[in-house]
Amino acid sequence: MSDHYVKVKVQLEQMKSLGQDAEKEGVDAEQVPVSSPSASDSPDPSSITIPATDASSTSKPRGKSRSKPGKDDKSSSGKQISDLSLHGSVVSATAEKNLNRLGYERTLHIRGTGKILQGKSETNGNYVTIHASKNGQQARREDGFKLARKRRPVTVDTSKAKTSLEALKISIRQLKWKEFPLGRRAACDIYWHGVSFHDNENIVSGQVNKFPGMIEMLRKINMSRAVRTMQELFPEEYDFYPRSWILPEEYQQFSTQIRMVKENDATVNPTFIVKPDGGSQGDGIYLIRDPSDLKLMAGSQAKQSVVQEYIQKPLLIDKLKFDIRLYVLIKSLEPLEIYIAKEGLTRFCTEPYQEPSQKNLSHVFMHLTNYSLNVHSGNFVHSDSQSTGSKRTLSSVLYRLAAKGVDIKRVWSDIIALVIKTVIAVVPELKVYYQADIPPGKPGPTCFQILGFDILLMKNLKPVLLEVNSNPSMRIEHEQEVAPGVFEYVPSPVDEEVKVGVIRDTLRLMDPGHRKPIIAQIRAGGFEHGEEIPMEAESQERSPEEIGSLPSLCLKQVYPKYTKQFNYLRLVERIAALFIRFLGVKGNMRLGPTAFRTFIRTCKLSNSNFTMASVDILYIDITRRWSGAMPDSREAGMGLQAFVEAFFYLAGRRFKSLALKEQVVSLLELCEAQLGPQSGVEYRRSLSCSRALPRAIKAQTLCLTNPQLSSPAPLRRAASQDYRLHQRLKPRTLRANVEN
Ligand code: ADP
Repeated sequence: MSDHYVKVKVQLEQMKSLGQDAEKEGVDAEQVPVSSPSASDSPDPSSITIPATDASSTSKPRGKSRSKPGKDDKSSSGKQISDLSLHGSVVSATAEKNLNRLGYERTLHIRGTGKILQGKSETNGNYVTIHASKNGQQARREDGFKLARKRRPVTVDTSKAKTSLEALKISIRQLKWKEFPLGRRAACDIYWHGVSFHDNENIVSGQVNKFPGMIEMLRKINMSRAVRTMQELFPEEYDFYPRSWILPEEYQQFSTQIRMVKENDATVNPTFIVKPDGGSQGDGIYLIRDPSDLKLMAGSQAKQSVVQEYIQKPLLIDKLKFDIRLYVLIKSLEPLEIYIAKEGLTRFCTEPYQEPSQKNLSHVFMHLTNYSLNVHSGNFVHSDSQSTGSKRTLSSVLYRLAAKGVDIKRVWSDIIALVIKTVIAVVPELKVYYQADIPPGKPGPTCFQILGFDILLMKNLKPVLLEVNSNPSMRIEHEQEVAPGVFEYVPSPVDEEVKVGVIRDTLRLMDPGHRKPIIAQIRAGGFEHGEEIPMEAESQERSPEEIGSLPSLCLKQVYPKYTKQFNYLRLVERIAALFIRFLGVKGNMRLGPTAFRTFIRTCKLSNSNFTMASVDILYIDITRRWSGAMPDSREAGMGLQAFVEAFFYLAGRRFKSLALKEQVVSLLELCEAQLGPQSGVEYRRSLSCSRALPRAIKAQTLCLTNPQLSSPAPLRRAASQDYRLHQRLKPRTLRANVEN
């Protein structure tokens, strides 16, 4: 029996025993839709490799969790290698190129045979010689020693790490890398910042663990806007984000729409959650049932916030609402590389859930899952176990659901899709920030970032995105009331287990000497649309020393791995590429009127019916409304979101008879064709979702006779928007609706 099947068997046993445990503990059976455990429905054990941990264990010594060369880890690394060999023929074709480029030696395992093939690629040749090794272990060891001799320890500047310091230190120790707690005169390979890219301004090389602009981009309003743009283009694909309105600017639409809904159907009684823009940890959040309950302040005091449809039927466990904290690594923006941690956290409320009613609206321990709030409830359960208490591992929750017959493979696949789509929504603006802080000519540094996705599972198991944290807590201690009113930080095994894994494996992936995983390259074509995304572990080639002491990577590459499924969504990124091209002066984030004119002229978008005077008016109109929508923006000019609005408008005027998405694709193709080869041809080649334009549709002229009347917002506003609860979100039909 191969390693792989032994592992599957072990996992099945674990699930069985967990199922029994769960039975005893009593998962809220009404809350969990139970699918019959048919062969096709039951979780595919080969793809459930989440737990590097035993979810059924009740406690674990701290020391052990810091370095776990456990049985599971070995077998999963075995599986990865056999996955490689499965694609052996592809390796010879695809990996050859990579091997040649890298000039590395490598070994391949053949599943079930115990044989190891060893190959050497030549940097100057175009062949790979593969020969059976006499003694695979020995060969690997020799290979590893050569590598170890060549490599100097990776250096990490931890002087700005703040609250992630403890987990970072453990990670660096496990990797045998070199820490510089006070910084270093010479450059380090990696700089770990606790808050933002700008924590240390003097970095010109290496890698920083924060992207410029990520904090701004992920603030609640900005994030809602970015997702909304995608909802306009791809309403079905982006229905995982609750319908939201931006306050105070959209107060009127919000109240009108809700009034209409209630008038149409008196039985509908929705609830809304109001979140201040810059808030975190549940601060300032409250629930309302009517727009008149909004705590709006007049004038300059008006608080910028997002009001959002409240998900009334979340999935419950033990009658409690919970949410998922998933760690996601953006390894690179260009090319886009996304990894998801297979292990995450679940945070539980501390008061049994009831659907919102006027009586319970203010019960924060019932409705808000924030740890920072619930820790202060008398019911908060600190537990060293990963599967009990008010904070648990994601795998323990998934196992529990699996034991109840839930198709967790499907859930996981939906979560991965949600993550990729969300990242695709925010990447365009991140690229604008990136070029402003690190213009192409500047030596560096490059960036990566761990994000914290907060996800709620609805009763029907659909994942819903609540928010994305640019700076997720990496603390491995938790607050505990050691005496009445006295809180202290005490070690938290669950946090340590999850967070050290995420940081350590992020570092491993960012290791300057790290070689790209072959599997990711082989499968860059991805999976077909609609195909379920498997949960198997990520492959990473490691030296024998590492194999001996470190568990397999807990981060799984999901992009470019699933490029095929999601690339068609990257339309706004192509618009951003145009925007950046016309920004001109390095460091700019906004387009001036002249640059906007140049864009129109270069792309040949003006003519006798749409004169340059009309272009100027369009520019002024849109820019003015957007600066009203973003009163705190210091820079004048047209930002990306305003440019996207202008682009949608131009597309709508030019290709009237098409749907918005096709209009945008058509205009993009037109612009890119005018700009020549370097303008996004790459994008076009890989990203285009367009069908060829029907010949009958000729380029239509823009006729902006009265820009005030035909300005984008009124044009794109639906006279009456019907409001429906979350099952199907309507695309937003209005952007930046500050009417002057
Ligand atoms: P914060 O950044 O302050 O934590 P969140 O957006 O994460 O703000 O919201 C706080 C909590 O409120 C979430 O953890 C979740 O429990 C709950 N929540 C947020 N949005 C919704 C929603 N649309 N429906 C139901 N619950 C929500």
